[in-house]
Amino acid sequence: MAGPVVVHWFRRDLRLADNLALRAALDSGARIVPVFIFDPAILRSPRTGAPRLKFLLAGLRALDANLREHGSRLLIRHGDPRTVLPDLVRELGADGLDFNRDYSPFALRRDADVSAALDIPVHSFDDAVLRAPGDLMKDDGTPYTVYSPFKKRLRALEPPLKPVSSAIPAGQLLPAGQMLHSDEIPTLYDLGFEPTIAVPEAGEAAAQRALDVFLDGRVYDYKDTRNRLVINPFGDDPPVGASYLSHFFRLGMLSPRQAYWAGAEAIDHALDKDAAKSVSAWVDEVIWREFYMHILYHFPHVDRGNFRREYDALVWRDAPEEFVAWQEGRTGYPVVDAAMRQLRAIGWLPNRARMVVASFLTKDLFIHWQAGELHFMQWLIDGDPAANNGGWQWAAGTGTDAQPYFRIFNPISQGRKFDPDGDYVRYWVPELRDVPTATIHAPWEADDPPHDY
Ligand code: FAD
Repeated sequence: MAGPVVVHWFRRDLRLADNLALRAALDSGARIVPVFIFDPAILRSPRTGAPRLKFLLAGLRALDANLREHGSRLLIRHGDPRTVLPDLVRELGADGLDFNRDYSPFALRRDADVSAALDIPVHSFDDAVLRAPGDLMKDDGTPYTVYSPFKKRLRALEPPLKPVSSAIPAGQLLPAGQMLHSDEIPTLYDLGFEPTIAVPEAGEAAAQRALDVFLDGRVYDYKDTRNRLVINPFGDDPPVGASYLSHFFRLGMLSPRQAYWAGAEAIDHALDKDAAKSVSAWVDEVIWREFYMHILYHFPHVDRGNFRREYDALVWRDAPEEFVAWQEGRTGYPVVDAAMRQLRAIGWLPNRARMVVASFLTKDLFIHWQAGELHFMQWLIDGDPAANNGGWQWAAGTGTDAQPYFRIFNPISQGRKFDPDGDYVRYWVPELRDVPTATIHAPWEADDPPHDY
């Protein structure tokens, strides 16, 4: 099969279904070379942690297997995309490059450089969002900085694109046999990382299954159960509560359009108004993801500093020992310690736990939110520059819809409310196993407080 050759550069869009850049290249009739590049600048960044990298590697293996089912494979290269892509384009005699846009300042700079270094057409697409950042502005043309009106506007506009066809005509992905040299998908060790924690199953098939299971039942109770402090959602039988999909969104194993439209269908199947409201509340959370991506795009300074610049004058405490105690789950506050140990054990935290530990670090210990943000990036399998930054700045009071500085989560009452029987704390803080429920969140009040906590 002859015809133009287009390189599809996979980055945070590790799926074949509903992939806007890939779809456009397929529709153009081009032969497509699917490529992934390991960029040393990302691998060396302190924000890159082994758990998320391990999940990414599993995602690449799943994507490669999927491509091989279509007779192709994932071409792997290492190096700075600014030089790797021009070399690859030359070797292949490629006629075009396409990719899906990424809105972090790092990615925008890199992508502009790559486009400038190539003398073939480069096409990019707003695939990671429901709406392109520039398309969702206030009437005066400025970006939204408050979530509720942003959400209202998004919901008032034409609905987002429906997921595009996933059909891949035979032979359109360049056959594996005709590929140039490709490196193998490396291991963590090859990339200079130590072995790390177990991660959940990766890939678009796993993401679709998880989405289906959630929307088949749990979503209808989401409003009431989303704040539960679940011990580990990645077992065979996901507990009640949230969707546990953020790691899939992070690397594009699931698109926001797939989630949005599956949510719309679930609303149609809801048995009553309350159930429908629950689904709608879940879609609102997917819109929070969208909101922070738009914020990062329009206000790139948030990546390195306070959204509200007036808070640059804040003086944070330099308390390395307390910071390490927080990281290791040794603060003496059960729910904080449970969460921080959970993070290091499974690379994920319930949203409520994220809010509580972020509030504790920034508003009880007065340690800079950026220290917490970095720790989260190193451990979270869903660690995302936009959502993580938004969450931390919200908790610290420096962000868009921020918690005001005087509103501080009380770790004891938060524990009592969201872990009422103490199971979460007992699981992650075994020293407290025998403490009665009445005092599990304030063990110093027990008749016989544990000696080793
Ligand atoms: P659900 O409740 O099922 O929500 C569905 C989806 O909506 C999520 O998968 C996620 O993509 C999105 N979402 C939900 N809540 C938020 C939110 N507050 N902000 C942005 N998107 C949201 N989320 C990340 O994906 N990556 C991060 O690095 C991250 N860091 C955070 C740090 C802090 C301090 C806080 C307070 C929140 C952070 N969040 C982050 C948001 C949120 O905690 C997670 O998205 C959520 O817990 C993931 O679980 P879920 O998939 O079951 O979510």
